[in-house]
Amino acid sequence: MTQYNRLTPELIEELKAVAPDHILTGEDINEDYARDEMPIYGSRMPDAVLQATSIEEIAGVMKFCNEHRIPVTTRGAGTGLVGGCVPVYGGVVIETIRMNRILSYDLENFSVTIEPGVLLQQLAEDALTKGMMYPPDPGEKLATVGGNVATNAGGMRAVKYGTTRDYVLAMKVVLPNGEITEYGAKVSKTSSGYSLLHLMIGSEGTLGIIVELTLKLIPAPKATLSLIVPFEDIDTAIATVPKVKMSNLDPQAIEFMEREIMDVSERYVGREVFPKQMGGTEIGACLLIAFDGQKEEELYERVESIAEILTEAGAVDVLVVDNPQKLRNTWAARSGFLEGIESETKLLDECDVVVPVAEIARFLRFARKTGEECGLEIKSFGHAGDGNLHIYQCSNDLEKDEFIRRVDVYFEKLYKEAVSCGGLVSGEHGIGRGKVKYLAESVGETNMELMRGIKRVFDPNLILNPGKVCFE
Ligand SMILES: Cc1cc2nc3c(=O)[nH]c(=O)nc-3n(C[C@H](O)[C@H](O)[C@H](O)COP(=O)(O)OP(=O)(O)OC[C@H]3O[C@@H](n4cnc5c(N)ncnc54)[C@H](O)[C@@H]3O)c2cc1C
Repeated sequence: MTQYNRLTPELIEELKAVAPDHILTGEDINEDYARDEMPIYGSRMPDAVLQATSIEEIAGVMKFCNEHRIPVTTRGAGTGLVGGCVPVYGGVVIETIRMNRILSYDLENFSVTIEPGVLLQQLAEDALTKGMMYPPDPGEKLATVGGNVATNAGGMRAVKYGTTRDYVLAMKVVLPNGEITEYGAKVSKTSSGYSLLHLMIGSEGTLGIIVELTLKLIPAPKATLSLIVPFEDIDTAIATVPKVKMSNLDPQAIEFMEREIMDVSERYVGREVFPKQMGGTEIGACLLIAFDGQKEEELYERVESIAEILTEAGAVDVLVVDNPQKLRNTWAARSGFLEGIESETKLLDECDVVVPVAEIARFLRFARKTGEECGLEIKSFGHAGDGNLHIYQCSNDLEKDEFIRRVDVYFEKLYKEAVSCGGLVSGEHGIGRGKVKYLAESVGETNMELMRGIKRVFDPNLILNPGKVCFE
């Protein structure tokens, strides 16, 4: 069992000298620093917060904390959904959100170099002004890109473009002992030893602090088009996904949504977006499919081909969303799913499994049936194109302890089923604090011990983000 030291008043004074004017303590620390967007995984106030403005400050504080065995937790925007930035052992939170400069573009090498606290929305919009696109598109646009890299965030466009990992060329990192190092380079291929770059991506702040990033950009597509495809039921909707993928028509996104979640989101955004009834058929589910390319005419050709496939496979209709306002409203409604659920639910937890695409329909049926057996209300949506499902457990009636007990039973069954059908515990939100037990059960002791070994090499004193990923 690791023993940590507490920040005594004397140590706090020394810490303040390391980063003058940027350390918060006591009542100056806002309660938001105690949690992320999934409060069910608990909260804990840090003893001090570094509102970092430079790499040197982060390195100085990290070195100080390592010498004094004080736990450190890195925080981007705190939008994570697995308790990853919660300082479960107290100590110091290092917040990167003030390091938000886009440092330089290298358009000849299709890359941009940024500080870690740049927000996803800020980067996406700025890149567009240069005619470039940063393809990763997770739902929360106000997350930091550093947080996106630390969790290997996915998002809607992963079907065509892949996840955050595919766009990280290089990074600067502060190691747990305060040393500053660099991984990767502005090159498009490498076979140069173990990839420490890729080890850092998705390590959820447990191996080092990402303090600078060089990211890959692509030329921005000139045209986009979305389709709302209504179905009578979710099973028919999901069954079309392999056919859509086989068509070779290169969709950018294929999202699925059940009736209940569409209604929740429409109540939240205050407008109707998705069809409820068409030609006498009640609409039980929709797919939202997006295409992008260089010319609008070419996209319409693709849409014609895909419409044929979809109607043959049971779609009630294929609605083209090409009006800019309607397009914005549709994707705003899609992005509002989680906030919509939050606005109507007292207790909430989430399972972000990823399963092979051909298993989605069967897995969703299992999730619904098991939810009923466990006495939990289940709401689900997700990225049908890559098998990443967001299955929410909700309650407005249960006491918190009973809710947690039931969710635990539910998760045991769900994750076991996911693994047995070839899936994994998390598609994009990570392990954080909430899913350590399920990761251990799914990968087995040998692999958990390898992960712990890697952690010990980077962080022998186990001070960086303790209690997360592979350490309970
Ligand atoms: C409405 C909503 C929609 C979302 N949609 C998606 C989605 O579509 N896809 C998806 O993948 N996620 C999604 N998320 C989850 C969340 O936005 C992502 O996990 C995001 O990457 C977290 O970034 P952050 O800056 O908020 O990080 P935080 O929550 O602050 O931290 C997350 C983890 O990263 C670590 N970390 C943060 N910054 C650094 C750094 N500079 N160096 C090292 N470690 C660091 C933290 O220690 C922590 O473990 C959504 C969340 C919400 C609330």
